[in-house]
Amino acid sequence: IGQVIENIERCGTKFVRLQFVDIHGTPKNMAVPLAKPEDIEDILKDGLLFDGSSVEGFVDINESDLVIKPDPDTFSTLPWRPEEKGVCRFICDIHWPDMTPFEGDPRYILKKALAKAEKMGYEYNVGPEPEFFIIGEDAEGNIVPGDEGVYFDVEPVDQGTDIRRELVLGLEELHFDVEVSHHEVGFGQHEIDFKFDKALKTADAVITFKQAIKAIADNMGCMATFMPKPFFGVNGSGMHVNQSLFKNGENIFYDPDGENGLSQEAMYFTGGLLNHSKALAAIVAPTVNSYKRLVPGYEAPCYIAYGLRNRSTLVRIPASRGKGTRLEFRCPDPSCNPYLAFAAILEAGMDGLKNKMDPGDATEINAFGLDEAGREKLGIDTLPSSLWEAYHALQEDEVVKASLGEHTYNQFMALKRAEWDDYRVQVFQYEHERYLEI
Ligand code: GLU
Ligand code: MG
Ligand code: MG
Repeated sequence: IGQVIENIERCGTKFVRLQFVDIHGTPKNMAVPLAKPEDIEDILKDGLLFDGSSVEGFVDINESDLVIKPDPDTFSTLPWRPEEKGVCRFICDIHWPDMTPFEGDPRYILKKALAKAEKMGYEYNVGPEPEFFIIGEDAEGNIVPGDEGVYFDVEPVDQGTDIRRELVLGLEELHFDVEVSHHEVGFGQHEIDFKFDKALKTADAVITFKQAIKAIADNMGCMATFMPKPFFGVNGSGMHVNQSLFKNGENIFYDPDGENGLSQEAMYFTGGLLNHSKALAAIVAPTVNSYKRLVPGYEAPCYIAYGLRNRSTLVRIPASRGKGTRLEFRCPDPSCNPYLAFAAILEAGMDGLKNKMDPGDATEINAFGLDEAGREKLGIDTLPSSLWEAYHALQEDEVVKASLGEHTYNQFMALKRAEWDDYRVQVFQYEHERYLEI
């Protein structure tokens, strides 16, 4: 705590933001103004009471008191706020007033899953690949991509070069270890990858990442969106989740004597991901729009299979071996709550380990090129084609359900049912074009 107060002093911080996320993964915060750095001491020690009843997925008004308590390890200044009288933030844990953890706090849900794996000696590492679009408006007010660059383009076609530069510099100030940034396949689409880390740190980082990208883009007069499929007919934005399990400092997915350098554990974990993928979809691709991304032909998966170099499969195992051996789960998109997503993915994989789920043979052909009969012959099933289908799959999957805990599962289902109901009664332009003259 002394160190944190010193940091606050050194950075000339005036406001301390206490931040957490709701059930959707939307960041929420309140700011405490400081007369002097020590003013934060009591909050760091005891937390601060707040009314949690208006936060989605949290509590009812009749039991609205919750305590927000900063995690001192997450101290960071916010580079997009003014330098003088600056702003820092902590990511916080949520407790009941008696200081027991609040079971609806997404961060707690991930911590719980990690503790379970840790008890068995496992450390879960995650490296996400978030994609996003920089968008603008045309003269008629329609949303359009911010540039006409495509995969790996350079300026001047890639009008995003300067924006990505600012984004990367901002992320570095936030202590991100940025590995690479580049233009993605779609007009106006970009990707910035940062180094993998322990799952909790990475989930915190995903929230900070999205927040920083949006804020910095906004300061530059443009808009960044993490919507999974903003435009019909072009690639959507995924957030592939690369993951590995370590035991005693060794990556247990690697086995130099195993087939393809992969261990039995890597295979069982993959089996778990594939087996639970329909239910996982509801959590890792949680919006109506997510399912418009998960269609054939746009580098997003729709068939339940795994492959080694194959980008058409749901789980891809990139060529890197040794410590870098990892499983890339490709259906998640950046609209998910990363805490819930990582918790559910881990539980699914661990279930594969526990029950020795055999994923079968790797699929090395382009799964998009297969018709239904071809897929049936290979025993390849498909991911849910809508949020509603995923909702039902989740209802039937006890392992993935349990990963959320009862409180959040019930809240999540109620919210997703409402989201689906709201969507399904809308009438779209598409329908006018198709049916008006019927
Ligand atoms: N944008 C693609 C997706 O929706 C992924 C492209 C890639 O492989 O990076 O998942
Ligand atoms: Mg990409
Ligand atoms: Mg990828």
